[in-house]
Amino acid sequence: MSDPDPDTIVGEFFALKRETDADFLVMQVGDFYEFFGEDAETVADLLDLKVSQKSAHGSDYPMAGVPVDKLTPHLKALVERGYRVAVADQRETADGHERAITRVVTPGTLLETSDADAQYLVAVVRTDAGYGLAFADVTTGRFLVTAVGDGDADDAADRVFAELYRFDPVEILPGPSVRNDDAFLDRVRERTDATVSVHRAEAFAPGRATHLTTEQFGPEALDSLGLDGGRDDTPEVQAAGALLSYVEETGTGVASSMTRLRRYRGDDHVELDATTQRNLELTETMSGSTGGTSTQGGREGSLFATIDHTVTSPGKRLLAEWLKRPRQDRSTLRTRADGVAAFADAALAREGVRESLGDAYDLERLASKAASGSADARDLLRVRETLALVPTVADAIESDPTLSASPLADIAARPDREAAADLRERLDALVDDPPATITEGGLFRRGHDDDLDDLIDRHEAVEEWLDTLADREKRETGITHLRVDRNKTDGYYIQVGNSETDAVPDRYDRLKSLKNSERYTTDALDEREREILRLEERRGDLEYELFETLREAVAARADLLQSVGRALAELDALASLSVHAVENDWVRPELCESGGIDVEAGRHPVVERTTEFVPNDAHLGGDRRFLVVTGPNMSGKSTYMRQVALVVLLAQIGSFVPAAAAEIEPVDGIYTRVGALDELAQGRSTFMVEMQELSNILHSATEDSLVILDEVGRGTATYDGISIAWAATEYLHNEVRAKTLFATHYHELTTLADQLDRVQNVHVAVDGEPPSSDGAASGSADEGDGDVTFLRTVEDGPTDRSYGIHVAGLAGVPDPVVERSRDVLEKLRAEEAIETKGGGADATKQVVFDVGSGQLQTRDDGDDAPATGASDEDPAGDRLDEETRAVLDELSGVDLTGTSPVELMNRVQAWKERLDE
Ligand code: ADP
Ligand code: MG
Repeated sequence: MSDPDPDTIVGEFFALKRETDADFLVMQVGDFYEFFGEDAETVADLLDLKVSQKSAHGSDYPMAGVPVDKLTPHLKALVERGYRVAVADQRETADGHERAITRVVTPGTLLETSDADAQYLVAVVRTDAGYGLAFADVTTGRFLVTAVGDGDADDAADRVFAELYRFDPVEILPGPSVRNDDAFLDRVRERTDATVSVHRAEAFAPGRATHLTTEQFGPEALDSLGLDGGRDDTPEVQAAGALLSYVEETGTGVASSMTRLRRYRGDDHVELDATTQRNLELTETMSGSTGGTSTQGGREGSLFATIDHTVTSPGKRLLAEWLKRPRQDRSTLRTRADGVAAFADAALAREGVRESLGDAYDLERLASKAASGSADARDLLRVRETLALVPTVADAIESDPTLSASPLADIAARPDREAAADLRERLDALVDDPPATITEGGLFRRGHDDDLDDLIDRHEAVEEWLDTLADREKRETGITHLRVDRNKTDGYYIQVGNSETDAVPDRYDRLKSLKNSERYTTDALDEREREILRLEERRGDLEYELFETLREAVAARADLLQSVGRALAELDALASLSVHAVENDWVRPELCESGGIDVEAGRHPVVERTTEFVPNDAHLGGDRRFLVVTGPNMSGKSTYMRQVALVVLLAQIGSFVPAAAAEIEPVDGIYTRVGALDELAQGRSTFMVEMQELSNILHSATEDSLVILDEVGRGTATYDGISIAWAATEYLHNEVRAKTLFATHYHELTTLADQLDRVQNVHVAVDGEPPSSDGAASGSADEGDGDVTFLRTVEDGPTDRSYGIHVAGLAGVPDPVVERSRDVLEKLRAEEAIETKGGGADATKQVVFDVGSGQLQTRDDGDDAPATGASDEDPAGDRLDEETRAVLDELSGVDLTGTSPVELMNRVQAWKERLDE
């Protein structure tokens, strides 16, 4: 279909459509915004609109529209689905009207959000110097940059994704060099729900980006980036500049609320890679995931949902940010914990503060609305009411001896109280209950502006005259059924009932007749009507003008609003931590300089809410740096390890922790990896991913890190898995020296405790007893683990057996670990742990051994080993009961290559249950 004549409305639409690369264009046509053509059909489908046909030059075009005042919710709905929508507004001109695209609404620049969450737009730039990331939340004016550089490229990319996962952006602008990197973009789509938008490559150019960044944030901003040496080509600046130009070009007009460029560095922060953030279920649980493109689970049941008691949206955002960004810096952590402790000790005063905070509005968001010119009088009133809380909250803190002696007093004192009072006073000009529209007057109190007061006086005088007119006329004419009113078509009129129309004086001019009455006007009334219309219009105009001035004054103080907002948010977040600590009997952790992690009677912060939790201790440090955690299935190994990680993490956001006592030496990173088999149960991971992540841990963790390995190696054949786990343990112990918890069902690993100095065994006892801290699991068969565990059969031949090690190598697991895995495998084989039966070239070898004793044994036919060939002439056969034989038969019949690990696991589970009976 060729484009219609541009002189028609449809033609104009298509002409404008060519100017934009947005997904949809919506164009104002009088009182409606219309989509045409394919846009109309798609949007109508998405938003459930009616499609009609618009004719232009003999062709019909689909058309779907919404009334002007309904545009915002529809835009929001489209943008929240990830689309970018260009909006063409209609403007009156001398000869008719013209239409032009005034803005492009995108997920990252949508202002009309009702969601309390941060809404980040991010630009990612890659240069030879590494990655630069810039994040902006236009709804709050936050603007952050960071560099992710050095080290090898894979590491850097991993860290970029850790940041992306942390910020959970809604829209991503990939720079020129990442834009064509399919692997990168695939990972973006896999790891985030963000819309990927392509922004002009020139916007990322260093010179231009520096210019824009300097213009926006001032030359000091670049100094703060450490660029005073004249270098301006850093990837951070490129990302920042591109982001600024994008925001500007979408026409949202919020740039002025972005007052401060903040750079954050990784140094003080605790490394939490994306997998760890997900595994620890910080803000979302994993169970909701379906393995599709989304990485999002449910929020309910996450650590955040459990500990969040904030009463404001900014407080909620800040607490979530803290959780995703724990810190090492002891003084920051102590200051926060001091605040939590003070709030915990002064419960009454705390509740007073929280009650006041409950009346606070989202100042950061309001500052952005003021800057973009979209704030109405009610918004400015919210600013006023929130600013008024500054002294209230500060007084509440100062008047309590505990709170006033704590860092909370400093937080409350941080905002410029005088400036806040000044702005609040200016806002006192607004009436307490302003109308929703800002063009029709009624916004200001008297005393704000002399001209306005004059107008109001005259307006009110006329209104008074009109209000009393009916009484005067009744008195003068003697008519009883007489009233004065106003409507759109007749304007002001005097209405007289039919029975009394005879008494109407000559000066009444009849306007119209109704069924039971007549309507009149008079010269005097006409005159007053003209006057009141004039006054209303002038008042509306003047008030709008005054309002814009006031709104600009508020926008000009965006920095003040942000600092007040931030202080209130911090108080809210700290109070929230304190509420949770008090309600759940948490204790303040002691942050020590050395000594590792020492938790007494610790609990899992989420599980303890729903379960009668059995507390347990954790000691990691000194010669107990590496704990091998064993215990039967479902005994609580995973929970125990996560609990340790979460206690450390909570301590490192400044929170109290779920324990009877805790001493924590802050860690520089928390790394977790859950074995592929356990993740496969959630339908998403592969052994390759498991090995890549193990590799990442082995490369990134340091002596000061906490590493949690949960059944790593389980995703491959037994000996392969043991070998990898074994070698990784040695490497973590000897080279990395990280504090490590390693849960495994490979009891062989418990023997490592004898060989490596700092490795210790712990096991989870069954029947709900707390795990004894030093119980070496090896050699004891009393752990309720079942005496016999059947491990999977393996095909003969070296390739198959070392398949897992091969993959580990491919995934980038350090060479020494891969080599060592092969050694261990050889050793295990040499110890004849693998008993082979049958002799044919294509015979399947059965692997069976007793791990209950912790010993690897060689058995001959005729010994009392479980038979594996399970044939009729099996000599052991007559000593086995029927059920066992049936299980063995099934075992030998398993098609290994054709069965998924999950299915295998399920079958083994079922066999085990049958054998246990
Ligand atoms: P494993 O990793 O050993 O298979 P999990 O850690 O998955 O076991 O725990 C199994 C179940 O036991 C989970 O439902 C968990 O909530 C519960 N659980 C774990 N540890 C405890 C504990 N200390 N007290 C009470 N319940 C627990
Ligand atoms: Mg587990």
